[in-house]
Amino acid sequence: MMTSNEIDALKQLLASPKKITIVPHRNPDGDAMGSTLGLYHFLKLQQHDVVVISPNEFPDFLAWLPDSEKVMIFEKDVQHCTERINGSEIIFTLDFNALHRVGEQMQKALETVSTTFVMIDHHQLPDSYAKFTYSDTKMGSTCEMVYHFIHQLGGENLIDKTIATCIYTGIVTDSGSFRFPLTTSTTHRVVADLLDKGVDNPKIHNLLFDTSSYNRLQLLGRALQNMKLLPEYKTSYITLTQEELDHFGYVKGDTEGIVNYGLSLKGFDFTAIFIENKEEGIIKISFRSQGAFDVNQFARKHFNGGGHINAAGGKSFGTLDETINQFIAILAEEKNN
Ligand code: 5GP
Ligand code: MN
Repeated sequence: MMTSNEIDALKQLLASPKKITIVPHRNPDGDAMGSTLGLYHFLKLQQHDVVVISPNEFPDFLAWLPDSEKVMIFEKDVQHCTERINGSEIIFTLDFNALHRVGEQMQKALETVSTTFVMIDHHQLPDSYAKFTYSDTKMGSTCEMVYHFIHQLGGENLIDKTIATCIYTGIVTDSGSFRFPLTTSTTHRVVADLLDKGVDNPKIHNLLFDTSSYNRLQLLGRALQNMKLLPEYKTSYITLTQEELDHFGYVKGDTEGIVNYGLSLKGFDFTAIFIENKEEGIIKISFRSQGAFDVNQFARKHFNGGGHINAAGGKSFGTLDETINQFIAILAEEKNN
């Protein structure tokens, strides 16, 4: 929580209309888009001039979020986005803990502007670039934090169906539909209130999870067939090559959630998915664990990444085969359970 002094200072700052920019992390997910758009609608109701700038394109399965079509995409319009950043009186950064999470070029733009930063985030080890930091790694989603933040500002009566819809979306996606360990009784109370504000929960679930293309399901089938087991480490992993992605007409968002299948195996507590990205010259990796095995540490230490204890990501600059070999070698050293 922010201190009451910080909240008072923020209330003061927001008492008159301001030029505000809100930024999610690169490759934004449901929580990143839901939290930025939820806060955007809340601030708009108070006559602020508000824009969300995403570092890059967001996936199609989130393109129904209210005003998502107004989100500026930094990498597609560097000049206007940079101008906007430079002219902002307040910049909110949501759902990430370090400026490098927006990508190199946008990071530079954010680092060179001297304005008031506000961070709202639930990832481990937040950096200290913001004047106001609301960081809580016990929170299951940044969306839930935006809800609490609005309450702290005394704006709860302004939460309407639109804001509630955005916030609900990130709570659902980051909690794996209310099943991950950080889902608390408070989370459910927040959600109950959001339903009272008019959230159409079956419709949102349907928009998020029941709009797959046939290609996406075929890609999922391939991914599951590619799954390898390392029972000695209670570990499974999936690979997808660029060729396989191309074969199934991959579009952004198609691989979302596939990693979780590796944990649905009986007796397995650690899984990873390795996805080749020829354009960026990297292998993008997602890690998931159940219980005490800390994948944030694992991703940070070995794969240029980070995240949460049970869900993290990272990347590797070697080939897919090299990356897998490295992964197995690290397991042999670190995970003798
Ligand atoms: P996902 O595997 O779904 O992409 O990400 C899981 C969690 O780890 C998310 O909270 C995400 O923000 C974080 N994460 C994913 N990739 C990276 C990365 O490269 N670096 C860091 N620091 N966090 C990441
Ligand atoms: Mn999140």
